[in-house]
Amino acid sequence: MSQEKPCRACMDFKSWAKSQKKALESEKDSEEKKKKSLSVNNVKRNDCPLDKDELGSRTWSFLHTMAAYYPNNPSDEQKSDMKKFFHIFSTFYPCNVCAEDLQEQLKQFPPQTDSQKHLSQWLCNIHNEVNKKLGKPEFDCKLVDQRWKDGWLDGSCD
Ligand SMILES: Cc1cc2nc3c(=O)[nH]c(=O)nc-3n(C[C@H](O)[C@H](O)[C@H](O)COP(=O)(O)OP(=O)(O)OC[C@H]3O[C@@H](n4cnc5c(N)ncnc54)[C@H](O)[C@@H]3O)c2cc1C
Repeated sequence: MSQEKPCRACMDFKSWAKSQKKALESEKDSEEKKKKSLSVNNVKRNDCPLDKDELGSRTWSFLHTMAAYYPNNPSDEQKSDMKKFFHIFSTFYPCNVCAEDLQEQLKQFPPQTDSQKHLSQWLCNIHNEVNKKLGKPEFDCKLVDQRWKDGWLDGSCD
């Protein structure tokens, strides 16, 4: 009987590799599978499925960039669509613990969609809540446009 595969997008790479190894060892054809799925000589390929942290960092990049380019004066439809987007996004985000956490946050802090500034600041605060939970430093939300839209004032992104 085959066991359910561990969720790679819910774990960091090390934990995933560990659980994957365990699952493989318990299967009869583990030797063959190990050869196929574990990286050779510990060299990590760059075209593998994303783990939780890779997915997280790329998703934040997308979300903050989307907020950075949201209109300054959105229509009522755009405001409503952006709210819907975050609610739907939070039900399909493929890391379960992250998705559940986000759903709770959305209940407490609904998306602020009145303008680009409102949305970017709201998202920065949502991301900071996750940073706090994970023991990471908080980001200074005054700098959010420099980070995700205009580049740093010192010209280092030009
Ligand atoms: C919606 C969502 C929920 C998540 N929930 C969880 C969870 O519950 N548990 C878990 O283990 N992981 C969660 N993650 C993943 C986690 O947030 C990180 O993405 C992951 O740990 C990798 O972190 P990182 O150090 O690469 O930087 P990330 O946190 O991914 O940040 C990427 C970059 O964004 C910038 N940044 C950081 N903070 C802010 C901010 N507040 N505003 C604007 N820019 C900022 C920084 O330049 C940083 O380098 C979640 C990810 C997402 C997208």
